[in-house]
Amino acid sequence: MELDELYQHVILDHSKRPRNFGTLPAPALFCQGTNPSCGDEVTVYLNVGDSGTVSDVRFSGQGCSICMASSSMLTIKAKGKTVEETKALLHEYQNMITAKEEPTSLPAALGELKLFKGVRKFPQRVKCATLCSHAMLEAFQSQSSSTTTEQ
Ligand code: ZN
Repeated sequence: MELDELYQHVILDHSKRPRNFGTLPAPALFCQGTNPSCGDEVTVYLNVGDSGTVSDVRFSGQGCSICMASSSMLTIKAKGKTVEETKALLHEYQNMITAKEEPTSLPAALGELKLFKGVRKFPQRVKCATLCSHAMLEAFQSQSSSTTTEQ
């Protein structure tokens, strides 16, 4: 019961006052994601510094509370991490939400994002919760195809 209340409180707070909401004037990377079944539309903007860390990240668009809250929380997590760390985190997040079985343990790095683990029980909501993560991964993908990759 307490967990449910915490979950609702945090999700509601982020969906009503999304952090990192807006656009970047000249983003190095951006990608739009849409989820027609719910009507969610999110565009993610990213800048990556010389050290390979996400120096700035914003998102714009509109969506349901799960979509807005997950975008808000994912962008908070991404900022200051390296691109590789962020990609790993996004994959862990997606794995948690698309897991067939209830995960026995979750990576500590997920932090507050663990609040979304219950979404896996609601297939209609999975796309809402992962829309921003897919857009971010696609944005990074466009980066690696336009620049030389480190081998
Ligand atoms: Zn939605």
